[in-house]
Amino acid sequence: MDVLAEQPPLVDSQGRIIAYLRLSLTDRCNFRCDYCSPADYEDGGGLLTRAEIARLAALFARLGVRRVRLTGGEPTLRKDVVGIAADLATTPGIEEVAITTNGHRLAELARPLREAGVRDVNVSLDTLDPDRLHRISGRGAFLEDVLAGLDVAASAGFAHLKVNTVVMGGMNEDELGALARHAWDRGASPRFIELMPFGNGVPVPTSRVKQLLREQGIRLVPDDKRGWGPAHYMREAGSEPPRYAGFIGAMTENFCDRCNRARIAADGGFQACLGGDSRHNLRDLVRAGANDEALEAMVREALHLKGPRHHMEDAGSRLVLLPMMGIGG
Ligand code: SAM
Repeated sequence: MDVLAEQPPLVDSQGRIIAYLRLSLTDRCNFRCDYCSPADYEDGGGLLTRAEIARLAALFARLGVRRVRLTGGEPTLRKDVVGIAADLATTPGIEEVAITTNGHRLAELARPLREAGVRDVNVSLDTLDPDRLHRISGRGAFLEDVLAGLDVAASAGFAHLKVNTVVMGGMNEDELGALARHAWDRGASPRFIELMPFGNGVPVPTSRVKQLLREQGIRLVPDDKRGWGPAHYMREAGSEPPRYAGFIGAMTENFCDRCNRARIAADGGFQACLGGDSRHNLRDLVRAGANDEALEAMVREALHLKGPRHHMEDAGSRLVLLPMMGIGG
């Protein structure tokens, strides 16, 4: 009997099928990028254990989730990150395990993660300038570690390697071309993300990012490539094999109608929408001894309350809920 085929798909209030789960392993991070974690943010306790994560993953897989991305906080700060990745990769129904990281531990972890079954790695890299990285990340960020991690990841055999850059006015607008080339030279795809209002920083619209890339010598042409997420892609003109650049216009190019994801925050809160306000705590329910039916009911209720779209553009400069590092970007 195929237990995976029996379930009705997991859908939200708008009928969008939810097949992608982003799982925050911790809200701790060794960086303090102030667009992500306000200076007064205190790391929480009470993280989901590896066993709790494995149980929730099996439940979500049974409900139709096919892809899980490990995020945070910084997921590689968890000592059991490789074990968690291996559990997920061997969970029936989960077809793809991915991770998003600031890269500082990747030199050591890229190969173990690949061997554990991780297929897809996103490395966050906003600048190639060590002083700027220090300014952006506040503390503890050493560019050489991040770049070494990216290099090892590039040779570790992942199916997809992406370099994510949040574009910030007056900070890294002049480096977008260099970041694209740095990624391409390592077989990775650069992606440029609009700043969302979780903290400080000056957002730059995707249309302007494309213009800056052009001015910095990057010639891109439209392409219909799509991934699992909200990015749209362009291709470097004349590149063969094609070299792609992705754009995530979270603020100016709303993509909520294509939303296929939900999140489990570091504190076990199930979050149907990154910019939404419905909070249901799966960890507390698990620890209260709930069975899978009760967990499923909570998940379906949260998805039922999910709005048609986020309203982050109305949020002013600071968003309401947990900062990004608590939710998991
Ligand atoms: N620590 C890991 C990392 O650095 O990739 C994973 C967590 S981090 C929250 C995931 C991604 O969210 C990073 O690429 C980060 O740049 C992005 N991010 C954080 N705050 C953001 C914001 N306000 N707007 C847009 N992207 C943001």
